[in-house]
Amino acid sequence: MFELPKLPFGLDELEPYISKKTLEFHYGKHHQTYVTNLNNLIKETDLANADLETIIKETAGKADKSAIFNNAAQVWNHTFFWNSLTPAGGGALPDGTFKEAVLHTFISEEKFKEDLKTAAVSQFGSGWAWVVADQGEVKIIKTSNADAPIAHGLKPLLTIDVWEHAYYLDFQNRRPDYAQTIIDKLMNWHFAALNFQ
Ligand code: MN
Repeated sequence: MFELPKLPFGLDELEPYISKKTLEFHYGKHHQTYVTNLNNLIKETDLANADLETIIKETAGKADKSAIFNNAAQVWNHTFFWNSLTPAGGGALPDGTFKEAVLHTFISEEKFKEDLKTAAVSQFGSGWAWVVADQGEVKIIKTSNADAPIAHGLKPLLTIDVWEHAYYLDFQNRRPDYAQTIIDKLMNWHFAALNFQ
């Protein structure tokens, strides 16, 4: 049985950028529902005792397992998203190997952040924008719906949820403003640097 992981911050700690109300729905309802659905779907199957990453990798791309994949990946993606945010986030990238790798690929921090915003804004419909490591190189990708980089052999470093439920209460249809606010105020670059090591 999977449980909803604890949030790494208080429900009101991302205010004024992400409201307590958004987190009550996004974490308390949406994330919880994926956990509940996943538990129901794997109950009494051969995946009942598997860990989350195994379930995601085992069911990826299998049409008859898409409900399990979608819920498992959404559980994983949301937990990773909460850890990608921090009340004292945004600002300059911390010095170290992650920053060096970012500059190697994107030349400047500004271009890196601009490309991350573009991925978040240009994802058509629901999905995720990601900073990933691909054989030591930092890349920015986007995925649709529940799809997750770990299903494609990529190492996630950071993510932004761009499903409407992530921003509609605070930003309505203004996804570009939501993405910019996350990048400037909430993104946990230290988490990315840690994942890159
Ligand atoms: Mn979400």
